[in-house]
Amino acid sequence: MWHSSSAAGAAAAGQGCHDALVAAGVLEDLMTALAPARVRAGGHDLALFGRDASTITAGVASAVCFPESAAEVQACVRVARRHGLPFVARGSGTGLAGGAVPQDGAVVIVTTRMDRVLSVDPDAGVAWVEPGVLNLDLTRLVAPHGLRFAPDPSSQQACTIGGNVANNSGGPHCLSEGVTSAHVLAVEVVLPDGELAVLGGLDPEPGGYDLRGAFVGSEGTFGIATRIAVRLVLLPPSVATLLLDFTTLAAAAETVSAVIAAGVLPGAMEMLAGRMIGAVEAYVGAGFPVDAEALLLVELEGLPAGVATATEIVEQVGGTHGARTVRVAADAVERALWWKGRKSAFGAVARIAPNYYLHDTVVPRRKLVEVLGQIEQIAAEHDLIVCNVFHAGDGNLHPLLVFDARVPGTLDRVHAAGEAIVRASLAAGGVLSGEHGIGLEKRDFMAWQFDADDLAAQARLRSAFDPDRVANPRKVLPRGAGCADLAGLPPDVWI
Ligand SMILES: Cc1cc2nc3c(=O)[nH]c(=O)nc-3n(C[C@H](O)[C@H](O)[C@H](O)COP(=O)(O)OP(=O)(O)OC[C@H]3O[C@@H](n4cnc5c(N)ncnc54)[C@H](O)[C@@H]3O)c2cc1C
Repeated sequence: MWHSSSAAGAAAAGQGCHDALVAAGVLEDLMTALAPARVRAGGHDLALFGRDASTITAGVASAVCFPESAAEVQACVRVARRHGLPFVARGSGTGLAGGAVPQDGAVVIVTTRMDRVLSVDPDAGVAWVEPGVLNLDLTRLVAPHGLRFAPDPSSQQACTIGGNVANNSGGPHCLSEGVTSAHVLAVEVVLPDGELAVLGGLDPEPGGYDLRGAFVGSEGTFGIATRIAVRLVLLPPSVATLLLDFTTLAAAAETVSAVIAAGVLPGAMEMLAGRMIGAVEAYVGAGFPVDAEALLLVELEGLPAGVATATEIVEQVGGTHGARTVRVAADAVERALWWKGRKSAFGAVARIAPNYYLHDTVVPRRKLVEVLGQIEQIAAEHDLIVCNVFHAGDGNLHPLLVFDARVPGTLDRVHAAGEAIVRASLAAGGVLSGEHGIGLEKRDFMAWQFDADDLAAQARLRSAFDPDRVANPRKVLPRGAGCADLAGLPPDVWI
């Protein structure tokens, strides 16, 4: 990977930082607050926790801590602050926008040891969980009660509920159920000053401002979630999974809108297109037709009669919009195989080239055909391969630019193409991010979507939680003289 040299640099810089910190007593204080074995500052640890799953960002941490309780998180935050250091929360590090990448020598506070499901109330459909619980583990645990946690990112085997809350994550089944914010009732938070607060509550209409809503999606810049009350939804009594294949991307994209216009809101409607299909098939052997130009994976959920009717409608709409075949999964095994194919797509592109850079823009569904065509053109103009796999029902695009960074000059073309894709999506009335967050990677694009007044308002909200900018600094909001002026801050201050 081309970032190996920066990782080595990070390790070396980390070693220097380590020595300084030992002298300053930060490590000693952290080790006193936690067990010594749960504080790390070796060069390799700092390099490892200086990255997440995004491809183009890296940072250097001062130390990495593994608290086991809210009280220990408070202690870590207080130690960091006492020594004048910022901090960054980290779950599993599967984020794709550099959100967990430490800046300014932040202390990395990892929640993976806080992984207990504290209570499940099946009648109320509520569970209290610690932030380090893995998304899929929660759904597996509550399935015997006929329940699930609806947000199901394709990374759900690895990502944490805390990370889902921070990024307001989505997933294939968020088309009908809504993204994470619709499934979080309350959050216990360690605020940037080290105090503990509970935002939201289990009452249907908690009083006051919806600070829970503000926290969900704040990407670790408002504090660290230490306990979360999540809403659990009923497992559907009946499910049908359909695979439609097309000889053109445009026909598949038109079918997406046509299905919904026909009155069917699927549980999930995902698209794989172009070279992605062959890559996934070679990787997983899901039974996907490799000569197709686009596939739609449509999941219909509900009472058996409703699912049967919806299946007929999707078959009919697919037929009139050019679907070559419409297959219905024969059984749970075939259904799981198709989903394995969909959820393994990012990994499968390694069969094409060693690196990828992906965007996460959202466009109005009716603009899918137009924007997908523009993306193909942008990739061709920059001599890059693009693979598409995305939440088609939501219009949430994930174009992956696939490349070999060892080829000189490639990265410049990748950046240029990435910017053009973002601009094309915004020009179509879209937004910067559907679910991966802004983090570091998309921060400097924020001014393309929001004007200075909007950014200044967001900066003021951030100030209400974190006036000193110690929680995950330099993320989400860009530095800009105009914006900072409006926020009442000097121009060299990150807002
Ligand atoms: C193969 C793959 C597929 C993916 N598919 C999807 C998908 O379908 N949908 C989707 O939405 N995302 C997807 N993602 C992105 C990623 O998995 C999600 O954003 C996920 O929610 C991140 O969880 P995490 O535990 O890894 O968080 P991390 O990467 O560790 O952190 C992400 C952000 O959350 C903050 N954070 C973490 N824990 C806390 C906490 N307790 N309190 C406050 N802030 C916190 C961090 O500071 C950071 O800003 C995918 C990623 C990969 C690698």
